Amino acid sequence: MIAFGPIPSRRLGYSIGINHIPPKHCTYACVYCQVGRTSHLQVSRRAFYPVSQIIDEVGKKIAESDSINHPIDYLTLVPDGEPTLDINLAELIAELKVYRLPIAVISNASLIDREDVQDGLLFADWVSLKVDAIGEDDWRKINRPHHHLSLPSILKNILKFRNRFHGELVTETMLVADVNDSDEAIQKLASFLLKLQPFKSYLSIPTRPPSETWVHPPDPSTLQKILTVLSDELSFIDVLFEAEALDFISTGIISEDILGITAVHPLREEALKDMLRRSGKDWSVVDQLIASNKLICIHYRDERFYMRCAPGRDSS
Ligand code: SF4
Repeated sequence: MIAFGPIPSRRLGYSIGINHIPPKHCTYACVYCQVGRTSHLQVSRRAFYPVSQIIDEVGKKIAESDSINHPIDYLTLVPDGEPTLDINLAELIAELKVYRLPIAVISNASLIDREDVQDGLLFADWVSLKVDAIGEDDWRKINRPHHHLSLPSILKNILKFRNRFHGELVTETMLVADVNDSDEAIQKLASFLLKLQPFKSYLSIPTRPPSETWVHPPDPSTLQKILTVLSDELSFIDVLFEAEALDFISTGIISEDILGITAVHPLREEALKDMLRRSGKDWSVVDQLIASNKLICIHYRDERFYMRCAPGRDSS
């Protein structure tokens, strides 16, 4: 199931999500990752799926959405791993243009110091790059990078990419208590973002189950202080602290749509119930997916979330 959705997001409206990396191949093993622990920590790029297969699956998803007159604002590369690990990234984005929809890529930026990665991302219309930490120690603690990666090289090349890219460049920073929320960390982040001048810099907090149970958002007073410091210095700060909207829909077979979305995006019980109700289905669909070991339930901060089963994801 490579194409899924359309899923709602505040940044991109309704997206057809493209999961073109199998679980869970990533260059990072972030402590807050919502799709489980990294089972394949790697930096070498390779082909995962044939581009033609991805293009066909996206085409089918678009046709399903069109058949129910559902709007699509973006095609978004948002796999349960790092999208730039796909060596066919440039070809894939170029070929997706056949659908005449804007293309977004959500990347952790770790391979941005490779020219072929930058060249591929240049084909996109909207690129989000992760900037969780500017200090080496914080970066190692929060993103737990592959040992071949270098933070100075990544930061230098994010700035270089900014000058080459003509689409909308945004950054995303996940704030984790006692990891990257100190005064010093926030001051360094502000200085870097001031130099970068992205279209937007989004701040997030863990709102879905993280891969490490000790991960928590900063307390409200620390968050307020961070917001004050950053908003004073930067006009393009925006926050993504709220839970996602409820409007998840099914365009075809409901069980497949649930598995497609939850492979990259854990669904709150409330959102899942709403999705079933809109499709005229009941909770027995979820019970069957759990009984056949395809879906798991995870508890986080007094809420229940549902995720597709994969190595590195445990129920609780
Ligand atoms: S949050 Fe993103 S970059 Fe970090 S481990 Fe998960 S998939 Fe990789």
